Amino acid sequence: MLKVEDLHVEVDGKEILKGVNLELPAGELHVVMGPNGSGKSTLALTIAGHPRYNVTEGRILFEGENITDAKPEERARKGIFLSFQQPVEVEGVKVINFLQRALKNLRGMDEVQAYDLVFKTVEELGFDKTMLSRELNVGFSGGERKKLEMLQAYLVKPKLLILDEPDSGVDVDSLKVIAGLIARLHSEGTSILLITHYGRILEYLNPQRVHVLKDGKLAVSGGMELVKLIEERGFAAVTENGTALK
Ligand code: ADP
Ligand code: MG
Ligand code: MG
Repeated sequence: MLKVEDLHVEVDGKEILKGVNLELPAGELHVVMGPNGSGKSTLALTIAGHPRYNVTEGRILFEGENITDAKPEERARKGIFLSFQQPVEVEGVKVINFLQRALKNLRGMDEVQAYDLVFKTVEELGFDKTMLSRELNVGFSGGERKKLEMLQAYLVKPKLLILDEPDSGVDVDSLKVIAGLIARLHSEGTSILLITHYGRILEYLNPQRVHVLKDGKLAVSGGMELVKLIEERGFAAVTENGTALK
C-alpha cells in the first residue's frame, strides 16, 4: 500500500528527515511515535505532498506507483487522506458545504447525494447536527476540530488515512468517538498511519506495528511492547541504533 524508501526531507533548507524507511501493507494500522520535533508531522505532510517539504533523496510509493513528485490533489484523488495536527479555520465556508465539496471531489457525488450522506452519517454517529451549519472550524474547540476531521475522513473513505495526533487536546469522551471512527475505518479496509504522543488512544485500537521516530530517523519498529516501554521509561529508552534498552 505505502512504501517509504530512504526518505530525506528538507524544510526551508534544513534537513528534517534523514533516511526514513517504512512499509505499510494494505489494511494494516501502524503507529508512529516520537518525541517533539522528531519529524512526525514532516513525515505526514511529505506523504500527503505538502509543497513546503522538499524530498532531496529517496521516494514514496503508493500502490506500487512512485508519487514522490505528485501534487497533493493527485494524491488525495488516489485515496490518501491526511488529518492535520492543527485543522485550520475557514471563515465564510459552512461545514456542510465543505463536506459536500470533499465528497464531490473525492467520491464523485453530486450535491444532493453528498448532503444526504452527510446528514445520514451524522445522525448514525450521534454527532451534533447544528455543527454542519457553522463556519468551518471557526470557534470550534480542539476536540470538535479533531472530531470533524475524523467525520470527513469517515465520509471520504480513503485507502490510506494518515492521522497526525488525532488525540492531542481532546477530552476522554471525544477521544472515544475519534478512536471509534478510526477502528471502523480500519475494519472497513482503510490502511492507517497513526501519529501519536500517547499510548492512551491505542487502548481502543489494535495496531499491527509501532515505529519510533527519533531525530529524523526510524530508531526502532516493533509491537505494542514499545508503547509500554516508552510510557514507562520515555523515549530515552529507545536508542538511535534500532534496539530498545533493557
Ligand atoms: P514533530 O511532529 O515530530 O513534533 P515536526 O515534523 O513538526 O516534528 O518538526 C521536526 C523538526 O523540524 C523540528 O525540529 C522543527 O523545529 C523543524 N521544522 C519544522 N518546520 C520547519 C520549518 N518550516 N523551518 C525550519 N524547521 C522546521
Ligand atoms: Mg510537534
Ligand atoms: Mg507534529
